[in-house]
Amino acid sequence: MSALMGQMMRMPLMISSLITHAARHHGDTEIVSKRVEGDIHRYTWADCELRSRKVAQVMARLGLQAGDRVGTLAWNGYRHMELYYGLSGSQLVCHTVNPRLFPEQIAWIINDAEDKALCVDLNLLPLVEKLLPALKAVKHVILMTDRAHMPAQTSIENLLCYEDLVEAEDGKYTWPEFDENTASSICYTSGTTGNPKGAVYSHRSTVLHAIVGAMPDAMGLSAEDVMLPVVPMFHVNAWGIPYGAAAVGCKLVMPGPHLDGKSLHDIFEAEGVTISAGVPTIWLGLLNHVSSNNLKFSTFKRTIIGGSACPPAMIDAFQDKFGVQVIHAWGMTETSPLGCVSRLKSKHRELPEAAKRKLLAKQGRAVYGVDLRIVNDHGEDLPWDGKQSGDLLVRGHWIIDSYLNVAKSPLDYGWFPTGDVSTIDADGFMQITDRSKDVIKSGGEWISSIDLENIAMGHPAVNEAAAIAVPHPKWDERPLLVVVLKPGTQATREELIGFYEGKIPKWQTPDDVVFVPELPHTATGKIQKLKLRDQFRDHKLPTV
Ligand code: AMP
Repeated sequence: MSALMGQMMRMPLMISSLITHAARHHGDTEIVSKRVEGDIHRYTWADCELRSRKVAQVMARLGLQAGDRVGTLAWNGYRHMELYYGLSGSQLVCHTVNPRLFPEQIAWIINDAEDKALCVDLNLLPLVEKLLPALKAVKHVILMTDRAHMPAQTSIENLLCYEDLVEAEDGKYTWPEFDENTASSICYTSGTTGNPKGAVYSHRSTVLHAIVGAMPDAMGLSAEDVMLPVVPMFHVNAWGIPYGAAAVGCKLVMPGPHLDGKSLHDIFEAEGVTISAGVPTIWLGLLNHVSSNNLKFSTFKRTIIGGSACPPAMIDAFQDKFGVQVIHAWGMTETSPLGCVSRLKSKHRELPEAAKRKLLAKQGRAVYGVDLRIVNDHGEDLPWDGKQSGDLLVRGHWIIDSYLNVAKSPLDYGWFPTGDVSTIDADGFMQITDRSKDVIKSGGEWISSIDLENIAMGHPAVNEAAAIAVPHPKWDERPLLVVVLKPGTQATREELIGFYEGKIPKWQTPDDVVFVPELPHTATGKIQKLKLRDQFRDHKLPTV
């Protein structure tokens, strides 16, 4: 007997359908961008869709064909949005490159992806001028500005002007329909060990991720919102916000290259931003600026924080001082990135506030479309008791099954090993204790570096903290706390060590504290533990 087939229209999940929806149903809703040129640019979803069609025409005129990769080196702005849609929508692949990586890494990535063209923001031109001789496949460089801002001199032959190209097109272009599994964009992992690896997203994965990302228990994005993604468009597609924002038709505010506390607060206030998203280090800058200048937020209500563990002290500061709800989320380049979001369940409504905060500080529950497991060293499943920690494995509709140009599958019997170590509690709340390579192993027991950092961040004088393993003759490894103090504050080693009393078992307390002017960060804002471990490899612990 053959199964009865569904009798619904079969429409492939196309990225272009997001922008056509936004243009048709939210056509007059604004996209506001702080431009690299210095001014504010305003237009609408309808304008964005029309210009994205023109971008598709530009690329065809330059001779680019289905499947060709086009690199972007650009900040969050409307032209970058047009490239997101114009490239993917016309079956090209939008390869966002992180300009904060080392130049050699950038060249390596562009060559690995075989980008045929590069679209570059004005202030990143010097970088491309330097790199271009090493870029093997690049035939066109397009400077994302207008004629008036084109440089008088450049070493790049035939440097193209984005506005000239776009204005020359008529926009008479129909978005094509094709297989929804076609590649739409590429983002490389940060590659803290070895070369970066390309995660290749598809139209299908991107559209599904956008819909689920907007759901109430994820970002909870709606047409009433004014969303400002601080997370860069070169960091896992700005966590899918350029797509999710189109799906719901919210106002979008693009902050450009300046992400310091003052620039952010000014634009939040000027544009009535209600919701934002970014990594913890960005919010440290904003919170410091707002606190030290006695400022408030008039419209800002929610922020999604992920990319690194959000310290509970940051959740408290946002919530208690400014009435801003923190939505803690976990994900990776390989997971598009949305994996887990910390949102309460109805049964948690009656919990005391402190217990709620404890849950909200975890990395959260899997969203629909993502499944989780934790396993021990033998690959055996561990119980979801919130205590036992193991290697976190994931699978789902927007999780990679292979890397670009890498033959060996990263999967472990169909599951993607994240490299994170975590617990999962009976309600499904996942909590990261460490990156597997960052765990501190003392006398055979694991100490969570994230726990140690979160506690330190609760001390009023601590601006940022990193806990790392330092070799120890008796215990193998012991924790060392590396601290950056807030400007104008003081704290001693003894005071900080004393601060752990009663908060964790005594044997987990750091053996020593060192104070540094700043911590090294990766190009995506994570603390570079590897670098710190190298730096303090020979640190003499007082317990030795
Ligand atoms: P990336 O691919 O550069 O976005 O890095 C992904 C990694 O960032 C994850 O595997 C985690 O180690 C870390 N990460 C992301 N979000 C969180 C979070 N909320 N808490 C702790 N670590 C996180």
